[in-house]
Amino acid sequence: MSNKVIFLDIDGVLVHTGMREPGSMRIEKWDNNCVVRLGRICKVTGAKIVVHSSWARIYKPNELQQMFKDAGLLEHLHPDFAAVGIRDGNPGEKIRSIKFWLSQHPEVSKYIILEDDLIASVKDEPLVWIISGWSKGGLQKRDAEVAIALLS
Ligand SMILES: [Mg+2]
Repeated sequence: MSNKVIFLDIDGVLVHTGMREPGSMRIEKWDNNCVVRLGRICKVTGAKIVVHSSWARIYKPNELQQMFKDAGLLEHLHPDFAAVGIRDGNPGEKIRSIKFWLSQHPEVSKYIILEDDLIASVKDEPLVWIISGWSKGGLQKRDAEVAIALLS
């Protein structure tokens, strides 16, 4: 098992407003460009994905697994792939969920957090802030390079 982990936010990283179907409010489709970039980070570094997004609370584990399978990312999903607290709505809770997950996995030697919201409380954390985020296209090539550098 890999000792490197990527804590993945989904909204604003794999999903963004550019994926909105005309006339629909919901955006459920992952941007394949972002998916490919995430897959590359995993391939190059050997890191496994743990979801710290509300998607891990909204969807059942098997539903989420199916999404990663459909995206061609299943091989990169950590066996214990959900890190969500009971109230993951605020940034502090997200970090608490990540910290709790890490406390259950002392084998992890390196990790990063892919996140599009600027979270003040994570200034000492290995955060890859996805500046393009929700409105401008999610995970970009430059973000992937930063992620690879932090995990190498
Ligand atoms: Mg987000």
